[in-house]
Amino acid sequence: MSQLASAIEKLQSALPGRVVVDPDVLETYARDETVDLYALPACVVRAQSAIDVSTVLKICNDYGVAVTPRGAGTGVTGGSVAVNGGIVLSLEKMNRVLEIDARNMSAVVEPGAITADIQTAALRHRLMYPPDPASLDTCSIGGNVAENAGGPRAVKYGITGHYVTGLECVLADGSVITSGGKYVKNATGYSICGMLIGSEGTLAVITRIYLRLVPAAPHSIDLLMPFEDMNAAVSAAGALLQGGIVPSTLEFMEQDAIAFVTAHLGQDLMACTDAGAHLLLQLEGSSQQACLESLEAAAAACAIEPRRIFVAQTSAQQERLWKGRRSIREALRAHSPVFLAEDCVVPRGEVAVFLAGLKAHLRTLSLRSVMFGHAGDGNVHIDVLKDSMPDDRWRAMLPELKREIYRRAIGHGGTITGEHGIGCIRRDYLGMAKSPEEIELYRRIKHAFDPKGILNPGKII
Ligand SMILES: Cc1cc2nc3c(=O)[nH]c(=O)nc-3n(C[C@H](O)[C@H](O)[C@H](O)COP(=O)(O)OP(=O)(O)OC[C@H]3O[C@@H](n4cnc5c(N)ncnc54)[C@H](O)[C@@H]3O)c2cc1C
Repeated sequence: MSQLASAIEKLQSALPGRVVVDPDVLETYARDETVDLYALPACVVRAQSAIDVSTVLKICNDYGVAVTPRGAGTGVTGGSVAVNGGIVLSLEKMNRVLEIDARNMSAVVEPGAITADIQTAALRHRLMYPPDPASLDTCSIGGNVAENAGGPRAVKYGITGHYVTGLECVLADGSVITSGGKYVKNATGYSICGMLIGSEGTLAVITRIYLRLVPAAPHSIDLLMPFEDMNAAVSAAGALLQGGIVPSTLEFMEQDAIAFVTAHLGQDLMACTDAGAHLLLQLEGSSQQACLESLEAAAAACAIEPRRIFVAQTSAQQERLWKGRRSIREALRAHSPVFLAEDCVVPRGEVAVFLAGLKAHLRTLSLRSVMFGHAGDGNVHIDVLKDSMPDDRWRAMLPELKREIYRRAIGHGGTITGEHGIGCIRRDYLGMAKSPEEIELYRRIKHAFDPKGILNPGKII
């Protein structure tokens, strides 16, 4: 009997009812949201507690079987797909918001808790958990921590890692440790918690998360500002921030992105049809009046006629704007199922010139691209559509196309990914952004956590 078969037999007897081997069910764990990636796991274990996770890791470590941790499977870099075989360890059943501690402005949650559910639970106490990846209705907090996910509110509030004050995790040999807790400062030795943020399931499995909460803003308004082109929109974003106006979101969408979404959802996004790009802003304030004053200041800083700004007047209109923004990828996928989705980050002041240069380059290759994203923090989404290009030509050109995009981002002082991570799809390009010495240090850290290399092999390094 192979080591894998022996491990599965042991798992089945140690965790009855939690081990899935039904091929039809396994099929649903063979993909995440990465374009064009598939790998069927040998089995899936749906853990219900840290003890279950510990049991799984102990057995798999003994048998040398690969374990791919999985949250909600919304990742876009193949992180939760078992590309090197072995088993998938699903945390989806560990989905409780265990505590909202208003006195300490803290939340304690299980890794499978859906991000939007944590936000809703916090809001009941007039508290806010700010990180808001566009997938927040479906992704899990464990996946957010493992990817150090960000979202539109990062411009004002930061990203997932800024809110994690403690983690309970299970190491590769099955031992359980807790690093940090509800306290918001910690200078007690190395930060294991810090190392696990963004580690993509390669160092340990996170089983409990302590999150810092902040007071929810009493009022906010959402608005859509039109600009002549992407350059003008992105430059205006810089002018706002330098002028001391810090919106809670500062997103840009070029007109093509809006056109795809409008067609896909069959809903008018209230965008100006004669604009080349828009900024989507949320402004917060202590009162509605304060928000409107910020709006006037923002219009002046961007030299926009206030009558051209669409201000959402109702929660339905607000929702429509944000649904539009969050549906861009879905709309692109419906149009061109195969596309390249990049999320480079450059210093904020470089966004306009980086995107203009890249757009021109893509045009010379006769490739259609759609650009949108976080103008406020320099993290831009660059989606290149395959359209009707023959599969073999597309596949042949992809590696050099990716390299060119990364070369340009790095050349502008940025890096290859701002929030989606490395996973397996960018692993071969890590050396463009990191020195050999740093990658070697990664290997040594990985070895210290996971000497047998069972945790999410084939990811990051
Ligand atoms: C429509 C759409 C919009 C998106 N928008 C954004 C966005 O705005 N910002 C953004 O950052 N991302 C975005 N994403 C990507 C994705 O939602 C995030 O990366 C998210 O954090 C993944 O969470 P998940 O629970 O689905 O994790 P999964 O996809 O299941 O896993 C992601 C990684 O985390 C690891 N992992 C999961 N749980 C654990 C755990 N408990 N312990 C250790 N490792 C674990 C996995 O091994 C894997 O490497 C988007 C995706 C989609 C499909």
